Amino acid sequence: MTLFPTTVAGSLPKPSWLAEPNKLWAPWRLAGDDLAAAKLDATLIAVKEQEDAGIDIVSDGEQARQHFVHGFLEFVDGIDFARKVEMGIRNERYKAMVPTVTGALTLKGRVHAAEARHARAHTTRKLKITLPGPMTIVDTIADAHYGDRVKMAFAFADLLNTEARALERDGVDVIQFDEPAFNVYMREVSDWGIEALHRATAGLTCTTAVHICYGYGIKANIDWKSTLGGEWRQYEETFPALAKSRIGQVSLECRNSKVPMSLLKLLDGKDVLIGAIDVASDQVETPEEVAAVIAEATKYVAREKIVPCTNCGMAPMGRDIATGKLKALGDGAKLAREKFG
Ligand code: ZN
Repeated sequence: MTLFPTTVAGSLPKPSWLAEPNKLWAPWRLAGDDLAAAKLDATLIAVKEQEDAGIDIVSDGEQARQHFVHGFLEFVDGIDFARKVEMGIRNERYKAMVPTVTGALTLKGRVHAAEARHARAHTTRKLKITLPGPMTIVDTIADAHYGDRVKMAFAFADLLNTEARALERDGVDVIQFDEPAFNVYMREVSDWGIEALHRATAGLTCTTAVHICYGYGIKANIDWKSTLGGEWRQYEETFPALAKSRIGQVSLECRNSKVPMSLLKLLDGKDVLIGAIDVASDQVETPEEVAAVIAEATKYVAREKIVPCTNCGMAPMGRDIATGKLKALGDGAKLAREKFG
């Protein structure tokens, strides 16, 4: 394996013929069979653009889903999408109208089979597919059935496990769970969050990862970050428990972040996905800036455990900017290899 293999947190912007650009929850521009075919075409482009940028572990770019949580929930029975409730999510950081769980949760069928198999058929690189984490899901949906958030999270974890095992059979190399809620409910991470992830990853032999971030570069998140003070120490409370977990990789926000890099020492033994690309800024990093983040990480993480990555998904960004940032990531890792290899 090359030193500093690169990857992305997950999502990439969608082409404007597929969905409205520059927004989250962008409406699709096609329907039915046309939409299904267009999602696969966009997946292929996303894979190719990552390859050309020098990304070693490519993702499907999340081209086939509208939102990182609801893209999964669409395939779950037991949810009433018409019964919307206003809920303060991420500990009241913002309000959202969310659907309600009204019965026992079951999967309608496969969730990401089409895009995972299409990506697998067209790349020889390692392939990553992301799924929402159980804690983040239950922070984004109301409950009128389970009467207990942890019980509901475990029910979602079992469904995620079914899909994750099937993705592994499709030839996926890395399955990542996105858990921004791990940076909000820090005590619950060790109380039950990691246990829920263990249920979601039970029986997998492929690489497993968890992505913990401070959110997309949207206003509610930027405002929240400005309240966190000069040093962001949320990770300090959860890293020791994650280091003891069975999850193989932890994906973090480092570029332009106020997270003290020394906290990475607490993840001893894990592969650490170092966010070296800021997704909240349209300024494209230089390869030197990316290499500098990697160099800083080598002070606290063994070199062979460092995987340069983006801070978070790039779904709401301009396409040209995202492409430039991907290339900066690939080139920056190359620079770092020359320096440390
Ligand atoms: Zn993220």
